[in-house]
Formats: sequence, structure tokens, C-alpha cells
Amino acid sequence: MIEKQKKELLISACLLGIPCRWNGTSKESQKALKLYFKGGAVPVCPEVIAGLATPRPPCEIIGGDGKDVLNGTAKVMDETGKDYSKYFIKGVQKTLALAKKLGVKIVVLKSGSPSCGAKKIYSGKFDGSKRKGFGVTAALLKKHGIKIIEV
Ligand code: SF4
Repeated sequence: MIEKQKKELLISACLLGIPCRWNGTSKESQKALKLYFKGGAVPVCPEVIAGLATPRPPCEIIGGDGKDVLNGTAKVMDETGKDYSKYFIKGVQKTLALAKKLGVKIVVLKSGSPSCGAKKIYSGKFDGSKRKGFGVTAALLKKHGIKIIEV
């Protein structure tokens, strides 16, 4: 018989040491690991569950932030201008479905990412600079009342 354990958190998988970032690395965070080991946390990578490979081309949001990608006025692109928006939207839809299924009310997301960033995202200039804004995942989860902790 399967025992149900309450899941309280979703955590960006790369913060737990899973090498799912665009360049095949992780971004391990002691804060995220502490939350994970408290129990009740599930790792998730919106880009990987959308079907993107690892490694993959780095993408940034052009023309707005995650909210604008969701309403169709901005795009997520790689440096050559290839449009990856549909993957990023699919990734957050799957992440939201998982959060709802598990009853998750809080997510711990990695700063800067065009998916997971919640205060700052890369600028869209592909020069390492950042600007204020939400990633696509952060934007939709926030809209659905899920609390975000950015790491
Ligand atoms: Fe980490 Fe989120 Fe990027 Fe996946 S999409 S590698 S979880 S920041």
C-alpha cells in the first residue's frame, strides 16, 4: 500500500545539485538543500519536463518578462533568434499541474532563469546582465497564488 506523504514544496531541481541547467551543470544551494531534507519537497525542472534536452542553447526573454510571454507579447529565444516560447509555456503548465496535484503552496525557484527567476531575469542581451522581472514559471505560479521563495 502506498502511504501518502504531504508535499509542501516544489524546488528548482538545479538548486538540489541535479545537473539540468542549459549547460549541463547544477547550481547547488545550501538553503534549498536544507528545505529539501526537512522533507515534503519535490524537485522540478520546468525546462526538462517541457521536453528540452540537457545541454541546450541558453535562452533569454526578449521584449518583456514571463508575464508577457504568457500573454503572447514577449518571446523566449536563444541567441540566434530561435523561438523556444512554446517549451517554456509547456514547462510551466506541467509544473502548475504538478503543484496542484501535490497541493503545493510554496515553490523555491532559482534566480535569473527565464523559467524560474522570480525577481530578476537575464536582460535579453545575452551579456550576463540582469533586470527586474519574472521568469515564465514564476509568473504563472504567482498568478495562481503560489508563494515563491527565490534563491
Ligand atoms: Fe534550474 Fe529552473 Fe533552469 Fe531547470 S528551468 S535548470 S530548475 S533554473
